[in-house]
Formats: sequence, C-alpha cells, structure tokens
Amino acid sequence: MNLSSKLSSLLHIHTPMLHVSRNHFCSFTFTSFFSTTPENPLPHVLTKCISLLQYCASSKHKLKQIHAFSIRHGVPLHNPDMGKHLIFTIVSLSAPMSYAHLVFTMIRNPNVFTWNTMIRGYAESQDPKPALHFYRQMTMSCVEPDTHTYPFLLKAVSKSLNVREGEALHSVTIKNGFESLVFVRNSLLHIYAACGDTESAHKVFESMTDRDLVAWNSVINGFALNGRPNEALTLFREMSANGVEPDGFTVVSLLSACAELGALELGRRVHVYLLKAGLRENLHVVNALLDLYAKCGSIREAQQVFGEMEERNVVSWTTLIVGLAVNGFGEEALELFKEMEEQKLAPGEITFVGVLYACSHCGMLDEGFDYFRRMKEEYGIAPRIEHYGCMVDLLSRAGLVKQAYEYIQNMPVQPNAVIWRTLLGACTIHGHLSLGEIARSHLLKLEPKHSGDYVLLSNLYASERRWTDVQTIRKSMLQDGVKKTPGYSLVELGNRVYEFTMGDRSHPQSQDVYALLEKITELLKLEGYVPRTENVLADIEEEEKEQALSYHSEKVAIAFMLLNTAPGTPIRVMKNLRVCADCHMAIKLISKVYDREIVIRDRSRFHHFRGGKCSCKDYW
Ligand code: ZN
Ligand code: ZN
Repeated sequence: MNLSSKLSSLLHIHTPMLHVSRNHFCSFTFTSFFSTTPENPLPHVLTKCISLLQYCASSKHKLKQIHAFSIRHGVPLHNPDMGKHLIFTIVSLSAPMSYAHLVFTMIRNPNVFTWNTMIRGYAESQDPKPALHFYRQMTMSCVEPDTHTYPFLLKAVSKSLNVREGEALHSVTIKNGFESLVFVRNSLLHIYAACGDTESAHKVFESMTDRDLVAWNSVINGFALNGRPNEALTLFREMSANGVEPDGFTVVSLLSACAELGALELGRRVHVYLLKAGLRENLHVVNALLDLYAKCGSIREAQQVFGEMEERNVVSWTTLIVGLAVNGFGEEALELFKEMEEQKLAPGEITFVGVLYACSHCGMLDEGFDYFRRMKEEYGIAPRIEHYGCMVDLLSRAGLVKQAYEYIQNMPVQPNAVIWRTLLGACTIHGHLSLGEIARSHLLKLEPKHSGDYVLLSNLYASERRWTDVQTIRKSMLQDGVKKTPGYSLVELGNRVYEFTMGDRSHPQSQDVYALLEKITELLKLEGYVPRTENVLADIEEEEKEQALSYHSEKVAIAFMLLNTAPGTPIRVMKNLRVCADCHMAIKLISKVYDREIVIRDRSRFHHFRGGKCSCKDYW
C-alpha cells in the first residue's frame, strides 16, 4: 500500500462526503475549486488548501475533507508548507497524533515550526513520551530548537514525571541559554517538585528573580506533598510577605501540609484566609479543610465545615465518615453514612473503609458483615485488601481471634503484612500465643525487618510472662539488624510546630519540662499508676530503660504543652509511632489529673483522652 492510499484509507475518503459537506464551508466551496483546478497552477491550489485549513477546519471531520481534497488536487504530500499547516491543524484540533505522525513522515525537511508542533502535540496528548524522542530526532537532523521548543518539551517531561529527563533537559536549557526564561524555570520547578526532588525545585526557585504565582504554588506544593510541610508553610509566609496573592491551589497545598503536621492553629488561619479570599465555594479547598480538621482530631470543626457546605460531593461525605470513624466516633460515622445513602449518593471504596472501620470500633460485628455484603451486592464494589483488613480487625476486636484467622485463610486475596499484623496485635491483646506465632511467621516472610512486629511478639511473650522468649526476641532483633525507627512527637504552639524526640534536651525549656515530668510521675503514682516496665519493648524503637519510660516523646511533648498553655486548653500531639501501653495509661491519668483533653494521632489511629478515659477503649 503506498502512502497516498494509506492516507486515503485513514481518511475514509469517498466522494459523497465531499458533496454533503459543500454547504458547510464558509467562503470557499469545493465546487468552485473543482471547476478551476485543472487549469490552476499548483501554487494556487496550495494557497487555497492552506487558507481552508486556517479558516475552515474547525472540526476533525472538515480537516479530513480538506486533506482529502488536497490529495485529489495534486498537492504534493511532501510539501513542507502544506504539511506544516496540516500538522498544526491536527494538533490544534487534538486529532490523533498517529495521524500527525503519518503526515510528518512525508514532509521533506520539516522546519523548526513543524518539529515544535509535533512536540507540542505529544506534550498535550495522553502519551507525552514521544515528545522527547522527537526533540532528539530534531537535534540530530541539525534543526536548532528555538524558544518555542522548550515549553512544550518541558510540559511533556513534567507530565511523564521523569526526573532524569528533567535534569537532562535542565542542562540543555542552560547550554542553549534558555534557562533564565520564566516559563523554562517554572516548568523545571514543576518537574522537580512533582517528581519529589524538592531540593532541586527549591534551588530553581531560589534562582528565579521573577516569581509568579505558578512558581510559588509549584514549590509550596512540592514541599507539602513530599513530607516537608514546615518548609511549605515557611514559603507561604514568604509568599505573603512578597505580596503574592495565593489562590485555591496554594490553599489546598497548605491545608494538606497542616493536616500532615497536625498543625491545627496554622490550619485555622488558612481557614480564615480562605474565607476572606472568597474560596468558600471552591469544593477542593473546602474538602481539604474538612480533611485538615479530621486529621487534626478536631472532628467537631470538621462537622461544622461540613454542615456549612453549600455543595458536597462524595469526597466531602467520605472525608467526614472516615474522619469520624478513625477519631473513634463510630456511631456518628454510621449515622452519616445512612444520611449519605438517603441522599442517593453512591459511596466509594474509601467510604466503605470508613464504614467498616466504624463497625469494628463499635463492636458491631453483624452490621459490619452486612455492610460488607451490601458493598459488593448493592454498590458493585469489589472488596480490596483494605476492606478485608477491616473485617479481620472487626473479628479481632470482638475477641474472635480464631475466627479472624479462619477468615484470613478463606479470603480470596493474598493476605498482606498489614492483615497479619492486625492478627498479631489481636493475639497480643487477647493472649493467643500459638496464633500469634503463626501470624509472626507470615510477617517474617513478608516484612522481615519491621521493628513493630518484634515489639508485638515480645509483648505477647511478656503478657504470658515468658521472659526468656522476650530476651530471645530482643537478641534476634539486634542480630537481624532491625533498624529502629526513632520516635518523635509534634505539637503546635503559637506560630510554630515543635518536635520532641525521646530524651531530647535540646529545647531551652528542657529543665522545666523534665522537672514537670518527674512531678507528673509522682502525681500519677498517687492515682495508682505503676510504670509498666515489662512492656518497655513496646517502644523498642526508642530506649529500653525504665527511666526512659517517663520520657517517651509524647510525654515530653505533653509536659511542654502543660507548661505553656492555659489550663483547660486541649493538647494535640502527632506521634510517628504507636503509643505504648505505658504512655497510654499515663496519658489517661494526666487527662484526669490536669483536667485536659489530650488528642494523640499515632501511626494508625486517634486517641482522644478525657477524664481518665480514651476513645480507643484501650484497644489500639
Ligand atoms: Zn511510650
Ligand atoms: Zn487510646
């Protein structure tokens, strides 16, 4: 098949189409062309074809007709002028790139404009990768890239999120002297930030003299999404100081940074700001706000935001349902789910994770199984490993450890480490040594060096008073070279987020903090508190000395907040590890003795301590 007939078949060229379309063309008609073409010299036809493309090709359908027409009237396929306009129109109409590519292969010596158009077309398509290939081919054909080449190329690379290509392109722009252009910097910044290379992103940002909102947003978002929320917030303050007005994107980045840090006060200020900036109607922004309050354990504020929303989508409902469930308000989560169903909204996978979690927390075994069934049957959602995990947790919490094990064995999906860990945790709490060992053997295969599993098993032996086994676990942990995750706790005071680690004495108020910690231990002993030394391994990630017990990072953080906040102010702590049994008990008593509400978000859940009790009902 020659190229011409290949094109014809691609274009479905047949005469009736030309007839039908006659009336649709603006000032030119095919009839007039037809009558004049044989006598007309080729340049005239070419000019007409190009004009048709420029003014009349507003749909893919017309484009093909014009192309077909040009073929019929002998416009050579390799003509660079015709090819250039044709490709430009194909790309502008977002027609398939395979079509543009086919035309491109026929053009003799395409110029820089045509190359750029191809790069642009791929950059804007679903599959941006060939853009870079075209760029390389272009340089190999000795066509010099110009200022229009890079924006599209950078766009393509940032879409494919390949940091290496980004770096390669970065050096090319430096070499060619385009690096200082604002769009080049902005694109590079976006690539680095989106690929998680926040350092390089920040470097590019620092080198920019003219930073627009796009640049600020890219760098702030890069830090916010890559576990560097403090930097994101610092940059936001700089941005405001520089008189750049944030928009919805900035606000969403900031809110997610605050949510990750548990920085409620800062988040509240962003809230005030977004109201002033008129972003109350922006659904993404308000959903991020909901998430912030839920993640900071301030569920009442989340409910208030939800209540005030004029428009809500499934994300809004799901965020609050999950938020209520993980914060220990299972009944309210289920109430909200019922309301959602009444509104005829279709819940999603994550909504059901929240629902099942809520059932598990409330000990609603039958309801949990019923929701699981309805999820599949009524909503057609195929259960994922997370849903099975919730079911195992549901059985475990209810004390049905054996049934939980049977459930795992009969699951249609391969159980992962999280599921075995749930079972191991349940065995520790309900004292099921043999099943605990089975769970542990699976965990050793799946995630051999997870320090938390050593802790759980050691706790299990400790609860059975099998001290030799506890010792063996400790030794094997050292022998296996298990990395201890350093524990830390974050609290927010004033404009800052403070981080405390175990035994940390770097803070200027250290002396007072530790003095208070000693006083607390004495006070708690009067309340019947006995330091739980046998469980010290619960935080093996930290130190294993008895003295260390009083000074786990969350205790230091709480003492710091007791010193620096007015009586009655709630204390919120974000901890990277699980709270140990000793701290849990101590904090319950602190909440009673000091009459403070203490909210701890640990690695897996929330603990709302109040009046000597915790919302987790001592199961975590
Ligand atoms: Zn602890
Ligand atoms: Zn708790």
